[in-house]
Amino acid sequence: MSYQVDSNGYYGTFGGAYVPEMLFPNVEELRQQYMDIIFEETFQEEFHQLLRDYVGRPTPLFFAQRLSDKYNTSIYLKREDLCHTGAHKINNTIGQIILAKRLNKKRIIAETGAGQHGVATATACALMGLECIVYMGEVDMARQKLNVERMRMMGAEVRPAKTGSRTLKDATNEALRDWINNPVDTHYIIGSVVGPHPYPDLVAKLQSVISEEIQMQLMEKVGSPDPDYVIACVGGGSNAAGAFYHYLDNPNVQLIAVEAAGKGVHSGYSAATTYLGKPGVLHGSKTLLMQTDDGQVVEPHSISAGLDYPGIGPMHAHLFDSGRGKFYSVTDEEAFKAAFMISRTEGIIPALETAHAFAVLDNIRFEPTDIVVINVSGRGDKDLQTYIQFKDEYIKD
Ligand SMILES: *Cc1c(COP(=O)(O)O)cnc(C)c1O
Repeated sequence: MSYQVDSNGYYGTFGGAYVPEMLFPNVEELRQQYMDIIFEETFQEEFHQLLRDYVGRPTPLFFAQRLSDKYNTSIYLKREDLCHTGAHKINNTIGQIILAKRLNKKRIIAETGAGQHGVATATACALMGLECIVYMGEVDMARQKLNVERMRMMGAEVRPAKTGSRTLKDATNEALRDWINNPVDTHYIIGSVVGPHPYPDLVAKLQSVISEEIQMQLMEKVGSPDPDYVIACVGGGSNAAGAFYHYLDNPNVQLIAVEAAGKGVHSGYSAATTYLGKPGVLHGSKTLLMQTDDGQVVEPHSISAGLDYPGIGPMHAHLFDSGRGKFYSVTDEEAFKAAFMISRTEGIIPALETAHAFAVLDNIRFEPTDIVVINVSGRGDKDLQTYIQFKDEYIKD
């Protein structure tokens, strides 16, 4: 029994490729070729050279002394926040841009919500000199103006999605429409372990460099590649998938995924997908998603834009369903407090998404001998406005 994807693109009963017929040739081309391409020696060479010289890998694995003292255990921080552009997302976009070149694609499209994946895509396209079109909801463009300007500065065209709620799902629809109309010359870069097979597996494999490095770094620091716990926040699930990947089939390592409870799991303003979700199809794969009794997707809420997603990648749906992964949910307020706690304890201002992973330390009883790895998915610069805005509400001193 393996927790990896099976040959049909499923994780247990989750995954697959539920796409309209018009999109089938695009997805099928990718499915037939992605493994051959990404495991090719020249691909691996180019990918790892760029990860090293451009992204700044390997990212450090930092022993957090003061945090460890506070929780009476050994806590290591995997510093994805130190990647170029400030988060793990670039690992995936660099990999997919090399893949796109191997597939002879000249044009890149992507969708983005908060703009983080759009920025990581625009970055990779500028690096390779490829045309870049990012679809973004009109409402999100107004909310995330800085990221819109970052993308434009790097030469990307940001196209507003003006239908529906004018947010992420509408941008996704526009991107899919574009791909249907441009099947030959265009590659669609999806930003998390979501979407139709092979995307969840492709993105997980590109992000798996995170756990590959953790294994080597822990071996060097503590004499064993295996921690007792790996903890990561989950929106779609790509940073968690990368941090879990090489431990999926190793039962000695506990996998802890942390979702956003928003204002509370039962408040009606939440993004706790595994807790509230039921099986359904979202963005081309069968997974757990928040939906009404008649199958309408429920609008999620989280203070962190990156966790504000009504679904979860099929790998994680299966980790939850099988019990292999333990899932926690953390409220806006708990995440906010954890962000200030970790800033003051270690001098690291985390992204609001990442703060959810830190907040869960209060919910688990660790042994003094445990080795705990937390994946620091991103840095908090982008969230400073939110930290300023809610400080008086959430932080008392
Ligand atoms: C986008 C983002 C996330 C959530 O995406 P995953 O695919 O679940 O990793 C988490 N942290 C940061 C910093 C992000 O930018």
